[in-house]
Amino acid sequence: MPELPELQIIGERLTELLTGLTIEKVSVHNHLVVHGLPVSDFERIAIGEKFQYFEADGKFLILSLEHHDFVINPMLTGRVKVETRYKKPTRIDMISIKANDHTLWYSDAKKMGRVYLVPGKVYSGVAGFENRGPSALDPTLNLNEFRERLKHHNGQIKNVLRNQRFIKGIGNAYADEILLYAGINPFRTRASLEENEVEQLYHSMKKILSRIRAILSSRSLDELASEKRDFLMVHNRGGYICPLCGGRVSEVKANRFKTNYCQNCQK
Ligand SMILES: [Zn+2]
Repeated sequence: MPELPELQIIGERLTELLTGLTIEKVSVHNHLVVHGLPVSDFERIAIGEKFQYFEADGKFLILSLEHHDFVINPMLTGRVKVETRYKKPTRIDMISIKANDHTLWYSDAKKMGRVYLVPGKVYSGVAGFENRGPSALDPTLNLNEFRERLKHHNGQIKNVLRNQRFIKGIGNAYADEILLYAGINPFRTRASLEENEVEQLYHSMKKILSRIRAILSSRSLDELASEKRDFLMVHNRGGYICPLCGGRVSEVKANRFKTNYCQNCQK
């Protein structure tokens, strides 16, 4: 599942490749991911507009045109690639957008992602877009605001971190990474955290996400689409060695989400 750091770098790569190009054709290969508009309108409305910029907004990716925005919520398996050669859509290709000699492909193996085409900056029709918190990588998000926002969210701290209404951009994988670095057990309740732990959590969030962003910053779109997260310390590493203490990483599965943590490092 792409989280904020990936989506920011994907936005940068798309900006390098596609800014200024004119949309010639929008093709929906699977209508399941198109939301908010009939497919015929979705395929027609953006024709002739130029790509202006691309940016992450929490766990959404925005493709901004002159008068409209495509908004992608990739969920678990949504991926974006750009091809310069002709290719036939495969089973997992959902949408293609041809702009001059480049084609942007949105693929989604689980078909759970959602793609919208909305009038410029009008996001009220995008499910889950409004009423979110500030971005986890917003440099103006300070410890005080973090602490104040945290007070309004109860339950297990990992679930709070993943709650986009608290702060936007963190998903299942990076929540595990942040909590390892903060030394906080993911199943602790928010209310049980001491002041110094809240501070640790804030600094860990900043540090881990910036570090991941720096690692990803040189990767190509293809590399980002493969989602090779070879830098993870604890997530997806159940049974392996914790890089911080040399102990074993634990794993707990709830619903379809996996939580990995170190019983030794995280109290
Ligand atoms: Zn450890």
